[in-house]
Amino acid sequence: MTEDARQDDDPVVRPGTPSFRCLADECGAMCCRNPYRVDLGEDEVTRLASRVDVWEVVEERAAMILMRQADDACVLLNEDLRCSAYEVRPKGCRDYPFRLEIEEGRPPRVERDLACPGFVGPPMTGSEYEALVASLSRQIGE
Ligand code: SF4
Ligand code: SF4
Repeated sequence: MTEDARQDDDPVVRPGTPSFRCLADECGAMCCRNPYRVDLGEDEVTRLASRVDVWEVVEERAAMILMRQADDACVLLNEDLRCSAYEVRPKGCRDYPFRLEIEEGRPPRVERDLACPGFVGPPMTGSEYEALVASLSRQIGE
């Protein structure tokens, strides 16, 4: 397998992985339309309270989640494919298409969602990778 092919289908992010830019207008905000759950931590429910009607946050399987619209899009996705609560969107949405994996005794590992079409930029440099890890490690509000 060539290095390029490996990077195209490798969910683990490292220096050399194509850098990301959001192509929401091209993909139709795919990540906000998939039938998946947007889980909310307690602090996120509080932060969203100023922007979200109470019926838009519901409890499902012991977790607070954002409701979906009839077409499965997130309840906060506007017709113009923008998030109506962008500034206070949940951390999972801020982090997407990345996810930080932390295991005791191991360095943090970043994974990406290969379904996102936005990995089209030049190879990520070492310092860009470090900045990504730092940004994913940061907690909301810090
Ligand atoms: S993050 Fe990826 S899937 Fe989501 S809107 Fe941007 S390009 Fe599309
Ligand atoms: S909260 Fe906003 S960013 Fe997150 S899935 Fe819903 S519309 Fe998309």
